[in-house]
Amino acid sequence: MAQVRIIKGKDMTVPVWNPAIEFIEREALERLQLAHLRKTIAWALKTPFYQRRLAEAGLTCPEDIASLRDVRNLPYTTKDDLREAYPDGLLAVDREQVVRLHTSSGTTGTPTVIYHTQHDLDRWTELVARCIAATGATRRDVFQNMTNYGLFTGGLGLHYGAERVGMLVIPASSGNTGRQIQLMRNFQTSVVHATPSYLLHLHSALAGEGVEPGQLGLRKAFIGAEPHSEETRRKIESLFGIDAYNSYGLSEMNGPGVAFECVYKTGLHLWEDAYILEIIHTETLQPVAEGETGEIVMTTLQRQATPLLRYRTRDLSHWVSGHCPCGRGHRRLARIKGRSDDMLIINGVNVFPSQIEDRLMKTPEVGVNYLIQLEKRGSLDRLVVKTEIDARLFTGDPDALDDLRERISELLRSAILVKPVVELHEPGSLPVSEGKAQRVVDLRPAF
Ligand code: AMP
Ligand code: ZN
Repeated sequence: MAQVRIIKGKDMTVPVWNPAIEFIEREALERLQLAHLRKTIAWALKTPFYQRRLAEAGLTCPEDIASLRDVRNLPYTTKDDLREAYPDGLLAVDREQVVRLHTSSGTTGTPTVIYHTQHDLDRWTELVARCIAATGATRRDVFQNMTNYGLFTGGLGLHYGAERVGMLVIPASSGNTGRQIQLMRNFQTSVVHATPSYLLHLHSALAGEGVEPGQLGLRKAFIGAEPHSEETRRKIESLFGIDAYNSYGLSEMNGPGVAFECVYKTGLHLWEDAYILEIIHTETLQPVAEGETGEIVMTTLQRQATPLLRYRTRDLSHWVSGHCPCGRGHRRLARIKGRSDDMLIINGVNVFPSQIEDRLMKTPEVGVNYLIQLEKRGSLDRLVVKTEIDARLFTGDPDALDDLRERISELLRSAILVKPVVELHEPGSLPVSEGKAQRVVDLRPAF
């Protein structure tokens, strides 16, 4: 089994998983990318979706790509494309070769799906192992994975990477804070993976149980799945007395393992042998100038079952210039600044306002006006859905209104996986804006 190796850097030793690829020279890396890009186009051409799209762009074979720059001639792929292609319009291999799929929810109920062959899962696991090793975690660590196991990729993605590194993995999954604390204490968990907001919540829960974080064996946290600031990272680090590393990924690009911070924490190294990442202007769709913020667009380079060309992530970031002291050649992304669409991230769960509207409008008692409000309750996000209902329902029977509130809350939970607090209002009582209706009020402090 491979192991985390320690390479002597300039002023400190650098832990590394796969030195040959992580310290690869730029020229060799770009040669590799070009070869992988051509292969990816060959795989993509096996899907009806890309046959059509590539033909429209005047591309019929992988050899039409002469250099890496030609990636710009490829068509974009959007989340809507993935929804339209659901369930198998983007499947590039025989069904028998697929060993797993992950879906994520769409805005109006149509999900998106990413398929994996065994090769794809092996590559994904390797990428996650590199990320883990880059933070200095090793097989001597006990790793408690506090993110959801299942269709969400944060659970299984980190799980297999951590096992490959040889860590002792506790697949705790999300929630159940009392049990998380018990597991941490019983097994001296030294590394955790969670959303930043959950870690802050965990800290309050520890205080509630009279446990000093210093009594635990914790030394590192991988934090991701939601936007957060440098201040939040520092807060987590000082509250727990640990190092926290930013982890970026999205289910369309496997999940975690796309970009991760190394021990120097100077931006997130993007694994460029697995992805080509472009940053574009959200309106002109042209590449932004070096160092400018724009939308991340990504092309998979090694995925057979669901190759994606120029996927528009809607995440906003910029490249960090210069070289990282760790010596890795893979470029670094700055932390994600936000999104260019209306997707909300609520305790790490992605929610589109249209999903809420869709459910509300299918509820006969509900009127036309509603408001989605996001608040902070302690360190966790709270979703409040205020909706006007038929005036005749205000009969003075509180139980009937409680039932309706609970029914709407449950309906929304089944659609968006977050249980909102529902408030019922009389018709005409919610503010009506004059121009474009403002349906979302985000009262969470800016991250
Ligand atoms: P999912 O496909 O459910 O894994 O969600 C992926 C989305 O979560 C990304 O497109 C980002 O908007 C967000 N996300 C993931 N990791 C981070 C991170 N480290 N910082 C900020 N946002 C993140
Ligand atoms: Zn580095």
